[in-house]
This record gives sequence, C-alpha cells and structure tokens, in this order.
Amino acid sequence: MNERIFLSSPHMSDEGYELEYVKEAFDTNWIAPLGENVNGFEKELAEKVGSKAAAALSSGTAAIHLALRAADVGEGDIVFCPSLTFSATANPIIYQNATPVFIDSNYETWNMCPKALKKAFEKYPEVKAVIVVHLYGLSADMDKIMKVCREHNVTVIEDAAESLGGYYKGQHTGTFGDYGIFSFNGNKIITTSGGGMLVSNNEEKVAKVRFWATQSRDQARHYQHSELGFNYRMSNVVAGIGRGQLKVLDQRVEKKRYIFDFYKRELGKLDGIEFMPSNEWDAPNYWLSSMTLTGKVRPVDIFEALEAENIESRPVWKPMHLQPFFEKYDFVGTGVSEKLFENGVCLPSDTKMTDKDLEKVVNMIKGLWLK
Ligand SMILES: *Cc1c(COP(=O)(O)O)cnc(C)c1O
Repeated sequence: MNERIFLSSPHMSDEGYELEYVKEAFDTNWIAPLGENVNGFEKELAEKVGSKAAAALSSGTAAIHLALRAADVGEGDIVFCPSLTFSATANPIIYQNATPVFIDSNYETWNMCPKALKKAFEKYPEVKAVIVVHLYGLSADMDKIMKVCREHNVTVIEDAAESLGGYYKGQHTGTFGDYGIFSFNGNKIITTSGGGMLVSNNEEKVAKVRFWATQSRDQARHYQHSELGFNYRMSNVVAGIGRGQLKVLDQRVEKKRYIFDFYKRELGKLDGIEFMPSNEWDAPNYWLSSMTLTGKVRPVDIFEALEAENIESRPVWKPMHLQPFFEKYDFVGTGVSEKLFENGVCLPSDTKMTDKDLEKVVNMIKGLWLK
C-alpha cells in the first residue's frame, strides 16, 4: 500500500524548535499546567495576532466554553451560531444550557451570511451572543457582521480554530469580536497535540478565564471557591510544542497557499468545479483546499477514487441544523450551507505533501472527467 496522504496532519519544524522548549520544561521540572512555556506561548500568540491578552487552555472547545461564560451566557439565553461548522462550535452553547439558533452561510464567503444574521436579529432581538466562524481559514465578512452585531449590542465570539495565520483586511481573524479562540488540535495548521487559546483585548476578562480554567481558586491559603471551576488549563509541556510551532506558522501558511494554487491551476477549469471563494479583502491561511462540484462527477466519486489510493479527502462540514442532535433548534437561512455540504470536497492539504503527491491527486481527479 502507498504511504497515506492525509487531509492535514501534524508537522513539526525541521529545526526542532518544539523539542527545545519541551526539553526546557523537563530540565526545569515544570511539568505542570503553569510555567514559562505557558506564559511565553500566551504572550507570543497574542503578539502574533495583535491582541492584548491570551489564555492558554486545554482545547479550542474549552476556549469557546469560557468565552460564552465571559459573555455571561447562561440558562435559556439565545446564541447565534453558523450552521456550517464543526460541532465543537455549537456544543459549548449546550454546556451553558443556552439555546443555539443556526445561521446560514452565503456563497461569497461560505461563512455566516450577514443577511441571514439580520433576519435572525429581527426574529430574536433578545439574543445574548453571536459566534462567528472562519471556516477552512476563509474570513467571514467581518465589516458587515460586526456592524449588525454592534447595532444590537451583542457579544461577538470568533471561532478562529481553523484560521490561525489568516487575515481579513490586514487584521488577524479572531481579533474583531470581543473574544477570539484558536485550536491546536492535531489536524489544525499548527498543533500542540491538543490545546486551545482564548484571546481578547479585555485583560480583566482574560484573567477571569484563567481563574475559571484552574478550578476558580480564590486567593486564600486553604481551598476556597466562590464560583464554579473548570480544569481547562494548558500544560507547560504542551505549550512548549506550541511555542516551537508558532515559529513555523508563516511557513505553513505559505505551503497551504501553494497547495491551493496548485489545485486551482490544475483543476479549476474542469467542468462543474468551483473552488472556495477568493475575496480581495481576504488573506486566508488555506487550512483545507476545498471546492464544490455541480457537474456529472460527484463528491463521492472523488472520495472513493482517492481512498482507493490511500489518500484522505472529506466532505465539507455537515450543517448543524441537519444533525440529529441539533435539528430541534431553529435555523435561519435559505439552504446555502446544505448545498455546500452536498457538493463540497476538502482535498488533501497536508503541508508535508510533495509536488509528486499533488500531481498524483490532481491526475486521479482529472481521470474522473475522462470516464
Ligand atoms: C477544531 C475546531 C474546534 C475545536 O477545537 P478543539 O481544540 O479540537 O477543541 C472548534 N471549532 C472549529 C471550527 C474547529 O475546526
């Protein structure tokens, strides 16, 4: 069997930066959920994205959960959430006993449709918070979305789990709203094996998030708790991997862009293929190269042909309003997210892919058009 080509897999630096930081943690015996790597990773990531403060956490999901708590979202509150996303965006709304209302995408961005968002505000003027996602590293239309959200005085949380290294009009995604979150799960553009980060310009709230994430221990010699706590802090070992990975983030974005350009150049003219949108105001990180198919070759033809060669590809996220667990919640839109799911293909976008690997994928796909 050929060596597997992945959609997106961990890619440590050639220089071994990650191991140096991890070794430092061992040498100083800071194998703990605090230490120099945690502080350093928070500072370095905040600087990279242009945010005042950051809290390193155990996952992106934990970061969304604590962002909702920081937004004071609780029992019965309504939270708008894009339908086209990974379930981790929506699950923390349920952890808080709040109610998600799912918002459709538009074709221009694949992300939250500002028009559908406006309609949702008319229907639910009492909404407490809005979660915006930057899917596959593509920016949502932040000017329009922030304008409506500010008019309604609602807290905005940006799920930038997939868009680290991606910019909207020169500003890093995840820094437009009140809170932004990132993920360092194994398949993300950089990884710590698992982890997340919450960023905000509100330093007081970030301090509060760190407090909640370490079991809400009050300042006292004995164990004293006035609030519900969580065990959500990132370990100092894991943060060391993150500091090393952050040094190669720009390289990873460059390679992801190269992969996208390669596919678009080779496949873009095939009948029925349309690549994910390119907007002049957007500088995506191209986390996954994705496209839609509306001709006679269907997504399943590609999944099956590539899998037969041990190459991984995937459908676009299945919308939340179509998921058995979430289908009882309201959806505002016209069905764009459903169409993107039906017709969407995420191509292997692993930064370790060689030109030979890319040519192989491209030739397999072109072959389907000759049948
Ligand atoms: C990966 C991902 C998350 C969750 O991050 P974890 O670190 O895996 O908890 C949240 N939202 C989106 C859109 C993601 O892709």
